[in-house]
Amino acid sequence: MAKRKVCVQDRVFVEGDECPICKMSQFSTTWSGRMFILDVQHSQIAHKIDIKDVGEYAIKVK
Ligand SMILES: [Zn+2]
Repeated sequence: MAKRKVCVQDRVFVEGDECPICKMSQFSTTWSGRMFILDVQHSQIAHKIDIKDVGEYAIKVK
């Protein structure tokens, strides 16, 4: 199973050819940890790592 790619800019998991958030296509498959942010306003993690949109994110990306 191929590792999924994440945007190096915002760490969101991307299925297509461009990131839905920043519209760039710089991806990495070297990531660790995974989290699903459902409530950006009230999530301390989202706030801490500067997430502004609901979605699935990697915790660390190289
Ligand atoms: Zn992005």
